[in-house]
Amino acid sequence: MSFSAELNTLVGVFEATAQNADALILICDRDGKIEYANPAFCDSMGMKLANTLNQPLETIYSRKIGIEKIKEIQASLTSDQLWKGELQYKNNAGADLCCQTTVSPIKNGTGAFSHSVWVQIDISEQRELERKQHENQQKLSSILDNIPAYVFTKNQAGEYTYANKMLSMLHALHTDDLIGKTDFELFPIDAAKSFSKNDKHVFSRGKTVRAVEDAGVDEYGIKRSYLSVKCPLFNQDGDIEEMIGMSVDISEQQRLESALRASEEKLNDILDNIKARVYIKDKDLRYTYANQELCQSLSTDRINMIGKDDYDLFDAETAISFRTTDEEVFKTGEKVSRMEISTDCKNKEKQYFWSIKVPLTSKEDGGHSLLGISTDVTEQKRLEEALRRNEKQLTTILDNLKAHVYIKDVNFTYNYVNADLCDYLGLTHNDVVGKTDTEIFGETVASKFHLSDQQVFDYKENSTSIEKSKDYKTGDTRYFWSVKVPLINDLGNPYALLGISTDVTEQKRLEKELRELASTDVLTGVHNRRHFIELCTREISRAKRYDSPLSLIMLDMDHFKRINDSFGHAVGDEAIKAMTGLCRKNLRDTDLIGRIGGEEFAIILPETDRAGALHIAERIRQSTDKYGFDIGQDQPCTFTASFGVTMMVEKDEEPDDLLKRADIALYDAKTLGRNRVCEG
Ligand code: GH3
Ligand code: MG
Ligand code: MG
Repeated sequence: MSFSAELNTLVGVFEATAQNADALILICDRDGKIEYANPAFCDSMGMKLANTLNQPLETIYSRKIGIEKIKEIQASLTSDQLWKGELQYKNNAGADLCCQTTVSPIKNGTGAFSHSVWVQIDISEQRELERKQHENQQKLSSILDNIPAYVFTKNQAGEYTYANKMLSMLHALHTDDLIGKTDFELFPIDAAKSFSKNDKHVFSRGKTVRAVEDAGVDEYGIKRSYLSVKCPLFNQDGDIEEMIGMSVDISEQQRLESALRASEEKLNDILDNIKARVYIKDKDLRYTYANQELCQSLSTDRINMIGKDDYDLFDAETAISFRTTDEEVFKTGEKVSRMEISTDCKNKEKQYFWSIKVPLTSKEDGGHSLLGISTDVTEQKRLEEALRRNEKQLTTILDNLKAHVYIKDVNFTYNYVNADLCDYLGLTHNDVVGKTDTEIFGETVASKFHLSDQQVFDYKENSTSIEKSKDYKTGDTRYFWSVKVPLINDLGNPYALLGISTDVTEQKRLEKELRELASTDVLTGVHNRRHFIELCTREISRAKRYDSPLSLIMLDMDHFKRINDSFGHAVGDEAIKAMTGLCRKNLRDTDLIGRIGGEEFAIILPETDRAGALHIAERIRQSTDKYGFDIGQDQPCTFTASFGVTMMVEKDEEPDDLLKRADIALYDAKTLGRNRVCEG
């Protein structure tokens, strides 16, 4: 290039400017061959000047910005147009470049397009900053829109200048529609007033305000409250133009807190009214909680209990016993339940507690504590003790009772048997308890028992009876006086029966003996006078009822005084007994003999007429006459008797009617010489 001197000076200035410019400057000929490149271009492109000059533009740019772009620029130049735009490409080192580019056509003297001047300003850094800023803005708005809080900015007039998505959703408005609105248009009046009061503080004091704000009742009728933080936003001059606020809805948290408080109060109420000692001790075994019951028993209050241990509150022995359990809970980390003994502070009496102690692990500090519930069971223990004593007494009584005692349930299974019954059966307690009647006594005997058992259950009444049974050891017949009592449950239904069977075999034998004694003559074994009269009365009415004959013989031994006198009273007795034997030998089983005087007898002959009676009397007389018994002397002792016979007649009503007639006949026999039979 050649310029005039003046021009040369100007060119020198331009060249110096181009050489030192920050802009990337190129001058190309009309075909796009590079004729000049300034150092800034070479630096940015990472190329040497020598490798750049005389290179066509396409070689340098085509790979970077595309051949199409170069063609577009060239076309603009040839049509004498300036080209402006941003070109983005990578330099030779691979770094991204973004250049604001102006390509101007230069005409030669003839006015034809001869050169182009490329001036590029590297705006890569600016673009990168813009991109980053955009990115940050996006991040921020995405945070603000997704944060679980209402975020907003307001100006001094209380108008929203920004609202995040949460806030716009709360009001069901588009964010843009919120801008410019005040709280008075969005919230109930009271809520708006309280918000605005806090806002004003921020503006007037220039300080951050933290407050719980009452947001009134929402459309669902739920009371809303916010925890809000409001800070002033200062402009460059240090003035507060706006404030930024963040409000978190804590309604649910508050509701939960108040519910928790209420339930805590309720729990405290329960714990204070419970009839048991409830307490919590820390790992040093100091009380951190004690309910009313425990405080009262120690005549102290809760505040005074806190921080104390058992040694401070109880006597040493009690404290040691409590501590042993507590330490076991901490050592094993498991629940421990056991009986604890404490001495009452007031009356010094022993108290029994059933204590349940569980380890508690606190989530906050991971520390351990212990929850204890101790129930006073002193009274229960006393009753249990008394019951055990009573039971022992009862068992001792029952086991030493000479009677069979048992309890049988409604299925006839034995629940209890005493020692006497076991002994009688030759079985052990365990052999019997849990077994049924059938298993022990067999089907036949059991079904007999069940009959009376069932009646006791059905009628819920005691039953008494004499039961006959065979002795299991000797096989003897035994008699039992059996009493069965129904055992009734709370609902009034029998669930078992209590049986008491007393062996009355001996009583029965004695009774029989007594009965016999009362009706029998001791010496001879025949009926005594009183009983004979009774039997006679019965026979008279029977004979009358069946219209059958009945006769009576009366006899008196002859000169009996002589026997007594001659041989003694004992021989006399023998003679009386012998007389009875002689009578018996000549009589039927149905005939009845009575000793009605010393040596005087009467005989009732049922179904016998006068002739029959006379015949029998005569038979007895003859055998008596022939009879004699040895009395250790030469001669046996002999005796005779006189007989009076009579037969019942229609008018006879009672024994005396017959006895009188027979007596008269007997008297006749005596007077006629004795040893004979007379009738009357
Ligand atoms: P008689 O022929 O008139 O009947 O003469 P008797 O001697 O038998 O006279 P009586 O019947 O009046 O006397 C009965 C006597 O029998 C009187 C009494 O001493 C005696 N005697 C009565 N009961 C018993 C007795 O149980 N044992 C004995 N050894 N003697 C008795
Ligand atoms: Mg006599
Ligand atoms: Mg006599």
